[in-house]
Amino acid sequence: MLDAHFAMTERELLGDLSQLEVFVNGFFFRGDEAKISVWDHGLLYGDGIFEGIRAYQGGVFKLDEHLERLFESAQAINMKLPYSINELGHVVLETLKRNQLKDAHVRVLVTRGIGKPGVSPASCTRPGLVVMAYPFPPLLGEKPARLITSSVQRKAPRSVDARVKSLNYLDNVLAKLQAICAGMDDAIMLDSNGCIAETTGANVFAVIRGSLHTPNLTAALPGITRYTVIQLAKEQGIQVEERQMTLGDLYVADEVFLTGTATEIAVAGEIDGRKIGDGKTGPVASALMKSYQELVISGPHVTRIE
Ligand code: PMP
Repeated sequence: MLDAHFAMTERELLGDLSQLEVFVNGFFFRGDEAKISVWDHGLLYGDGIFEGIRAYQGGVFKLDEHLERLFESAQAINMKLPYSINELGHVVLETLKRNQLKDAHVRVLVTRGIGKPGVSPASCTRPGLVVMAYPFPPLLGEKPARLITSSVQRKAPRSVDARVKSLNYLDNVLAKLQAICAGMDDAIMLDSNGCIAETTGANVFAVIRGSLHTPNLTAALPGITRYTVIQLAKEQGIQVEERQMTLGDLYVADEVFLTGTATEIAVAGEIDGRKIGDGKTGPVASALMKSYQELVISGPHVTRIE
């Protein structure tokens, strides 16, 4: 029954990705043999958290910061992790080593674990853990991105607090789909007050009269790249303001750019059909991109894989 529909193997669907070794609950498996239970509440209810981390030229950027955020996400959803940041860090490094990956994206996933059906996590006694790493091409590319404003609301803090990097990305998925259907690259999501929250996977910055502005964190993930970029800007003598921001702020900005571990620093050349600045990469984004590239490769926050 329906077997023809499901006949394609993971190898056919994913190609070489399916052959990478993945860590699942204590052991390494080849990707197409790595499985989590259908009773896991991570799958049943999106009850879980994750992190996205980057490795550049054999070094992991801000490993501890990412794992600290993961532990904070866990605490925020009342989940106790039965291992330390250090132990988890070793698993991340081992995953990269086993797959001989030097430039990669690493995904650490913690699920609520196996439990009886029903929203209550009370019967889930052991959180599930998956660590996977894979080669990673640039997410939005080199060209300035074209964005639209999504009608899908970033619900934090009334729903899941924005500090929780949860397995529940359906709002973001729908916003991204809206962008794709409109022929755009990504979407800006607004909070319940109509102020800028973030995009579907990155924080937002605007350069206005020489200083840098970014929405505060009521409805935006405390991005590790966001923090890094704020520090870099201050070092370059640029004033940074974290505040409530509107679409109007972006429309009149000289430059708008997005930040994220996967996104890095990506310029927004167009928002809602309006050109931002001259639509090209501006001087502030350009200077920050240069120092960011240096920092992720040889800065003080790099943990060598070997
Ligand atoms: N916002 C959202 C919704 C994200 O998924 C991400 C990517 N993790 C970010 C912002 C950027 O965060 P970071 O710089 O820590 O990757």
